[in-house]
Amino acid sequence: MAKRLVVIGGTAAGLSAASKAKRNMPELEIEVYEKSGYVSYGACGLPYFVGNLIHEPEDLVSLTADQLRTKRGIPTYIHHEVTAIDRVAKIVTVSNLDTGDRFERPYDALVIATGAVPVLPPIPGIHAEGVHCLRTVESGIALKARVQCGAKKAVVIGGGFIGLEVAEELALSGVQVTLLEGEKRLLTFLNEEYAAEVERTLSAGGVSVHTGCPAKEIILQSGRAAGVLGADGCVYDADLVLVAVGVRPCADLARAAGLALGYKGGIVVDEHLQTSDPSIWACGDCVQMRNLITGEPCYVPLGTTANKQGRIAGGNLTGEDGCFRGVLASQVTKVFDLYIASTGLSMEQARSAGFDPACTAITKGDRASYYPGGGDNHLYLVFDRHTGRLLGAQGIGTASVAGRINVLVAAITSGMTVSQLNELDLVYAPPVAPVYDPILIAASQAL
Ligand code: FAD
Repeated sequence: MAKRLVVIGGTAAGLSAASKAKRNMPELEIEVYEKSGYVSYGACGLPYFVGNLIHEPEDLVSLTADQLRTKRGIPTYIHHEVTAIDRVAKIVTVSNLDTGDRFERPYDALVIATGAVPVLPPIPGIHAEGVHCLRTVESGIALKARVQCGAKKAVVIGGGFIGLEVAEELALSGVQVTLLEGEKRLLTFLNEEYAAEVERTLSAGGVSVHTGCPAKEIILQSGRAAGVLGADGCVYDADLVLVAVGVRPCADLARAAGLALGYKGGIVVDEHLQTSDPSIWACGDCVQMRNLITGEPCYVPLGTTANKQGRIAGGNLTGEDGCFRGVLASQVTKVFDLYIASTGLSMEQARSAGFDPACTAITKGDRASYYPGGGDNHLYLVFDRHTGRLLGAQGIGTASVAGRINVLVAAITSGMTVSQLNELDLVYAPPVAPVYDPILIAASQAL
């Protein structure tokens, strides 16, 4: 059994692993190394910090490094980067980024939870001053400072969740926002109709959306970003540019240590989150994942997964036998007053996975028609034409759409057909749901 645990990365996955291991084995000596200046923070709240709905960076933090040491008994070091792993000697090399000191620490068990890094499109000017990414608290502070220093115009490159959330927050802060998306629609996992509704909502909120328009160049003035040239030949002026075209696993350390890497360069782990080295576990955005429906490798970097995987890795390295079987890519967000949620496969994904999929879409009020308030839920189901097995679901509308997609997550996970979905004994009361829930309406239409 391990006596000394070293954890690399001090946020969702790393600290979930450290906390679980400490709870299971209080005598375990643990050290957590984090290269940024913050640990245990909610990156998911960063767009709302930029929009000043959340005022201070500290508000995003659950436990500081000091609190982790004193309250949880987990010595945690910020501004400390692990620069090498010697798997034979079971030693990591750590660099103190404040002092420049380097030192070595032994481990019996090692958890790699190094997360992900933003992808930067290889276009001229991408490294210029005024071009931002949003990933760490520091990057949020820099972006917010730019907004608060009076940025008037912003270009957001990328129409995924993060790009949309930040576009919304910048627009609400009074910044004139242009959003450039290279694909033909925003949130490409959504069906065309729902993606178009998201685009309409953004436009109504003052965001100028250009789809099918990848950024070609960052236009510079005196060395700093002053605009973005789109593939349509237009230059969109900007005091600040946010690049949000996705992330990739931060796995350089693992690669250098000779660990097996897989899909998109994520660290290969088994169901127990053990890497190709039995003394090393890896979890969160740095690992390759497995799609629960297709069984194929995938990469879906989400906080939900990182927390769960961290907890399982921490349990397993103290002798448990936990499994993480895979992901459905269940996600939710909102832009202005439109809530968007999805899980499982889209039609395109289902087709390329070898299914013969069919789909159905319905619109239904989210409570009894005579009860004041509420609004519509638009639900879209993807299912196998021959077996009726549910493969995916998307929803847009009021906040209640998230709960409905969660029901559909359970249905997909348990392998339900649309016929079984149609038989579900779902709740009803006028202020909460209509007597025939939107899920039942969608399921019956799919029969
Ligand atoms: P990270 O959070 O990336 O943490 C890894 C840490 O390791 C980093 O702090 C890094 O500095 C550190 N590190 C890396 N290399 C080293 C090294 N060599 N030495 C020491 N330290 C190192 N997910 C959701 O589920 N829902 C959401 O609504 C949502 N919204 C998001 C909004 C934004 C703006 C962002 C950026 C992400 C969002 N996510 C969301 C994704 C979620 O935040 C991530 O999936 C989650 O943070 C991953 O956790 P992690 O611990 O694997 O990696």
